[in-house]
Amino acid sequence: MLHYLDYAATTPVPPAVAEAMVETLTKGFGNPSSQYDLGRAAKAAMDGHRRTIAAALGCPPERLFFTSCGTEGDNWAIRAALWHNRRLGKHIITTAVEHSAVLQCMKDLEQQGYAVTYLKPDGQNRIAPEQVAEALRPDTALVSMMLVNNETGTCYPVEEVAALLRGRETLLHTDAVQGFLKVPFTAKSLGADLITLSAHKIGGPKGIGALYIGEGLPHPRPLLFGGGQEQGLRSGTEATAQIAGFAKAVELRRSHLEEINGRMASLRDYAVERLQEIPTLEFIGRADAPHILSLSLPGYPSQNIVNDLSSKGICVSAGSACHQGKASHVLTAMGLPKKVAAGTIRISFGPETTRADIDALADALREHQERRFPML
Ligand code: PLP
Repeated sequence: MLHYLDYAATTPVPPAVAEAMVETLTKGFGNPSSQYDLGRAAKAAMDGHRRTIAAALGCPPERLFFTSCGTEGDNWAIRAALWHNRRLGKHIITTAVEHSAVLQCMKDLEQQGYAVTYLKPDGQNRIAPEQVAEALRPDTALVSMMLVNNETGTCYPVEEVAALLRGRETLLHTDAVQGFLKVPFTAKSLGADLITLSAHKIGGPKGIGALYIGEGLPHPRPLLFGGGQEQGLRSGTEATAQIAGFAKAVELRRSHLEEINGRMASLRDYAVERLQEIPTLEFIGRADAPHILSLSLPGYPSQNIVNDLSSKGICVSAGSACHQGKASHVLTAMGLPKKVAAGTIRISFGPETTRADIDALADALREHQERRFPML
């Protein structure tokens, strides 16, 4: 039996989402740019899907642009903001705990002469708005701060940072990939100029995301030049089936949002209750979001834990699935002792998760601790 506990890495697609995609692929397959009924119908369907997702973000549909993934949204947002503020300066503020889609962009920008300040979290993975205030310079073109950390589920004070930046030209981007439809916010309540979303963390397909570009950037720099799709900002024939799946996933989530998030939060609390019975187990970081919990068996290498659990059909990730075995930059930035960081795994929940999944995990972790020798 499969116990999938890695929803922060990706999620299964509910049958209704797959059906919406099949329908688009087989029946509504027209190119939205085509000038006959099939094309016009594809365009109308896509416009409806954009409205569905924009409504969930609380923004006008014309400010929401489809991208191929969250990574693309992050890259585009950062480049567009820096282009917009190219006369203001070459200083960027971000955090040391961003997803690699942001951090690797920053590394590239440093090579191009930008100065980047990386804000460090405390031992609970929290970052205070005052840290942004202290780092601000007259030439700060952009602040990029994620909404929910993908490794520990910690929320960051994006709203407070937006308030702090009010009246300044500095633009604010937030990677909301782990926060969208998990923690309550709208584009307006957050006040960020750019917001990145991705479908596959909420029951949508992989390979589709969206970027909100607010009115602070009236003429955003295009990402891709070509046929002029997405208001000329991201050319390329639209991924209509993925877009249909994204919208259906949003619709499904929103129809039971409080129930789903409430259930995930109570599963997380149940997991804490069950797992704290395991001697020496430590919880890592502040888990604000309902779907992520990070924990460590100090002394037991996380890759061994992941492999052992995998042999029992339990899927969890070592720190973050995006790091492929390397020491997590998040845990390092938090200043965790090496032994604790090296033994850290992330578990994450979705609408399909049950208490039986948590019980299987708790039993397997206890067994791992009893049977295996610590190696660190
Ligand atoms: N940002 C965060 C916080 C993520 O967790 C992820 C995915 O793991 C991404 C960005 C990248 O999204 P995508 O996989 O759609 O490129």
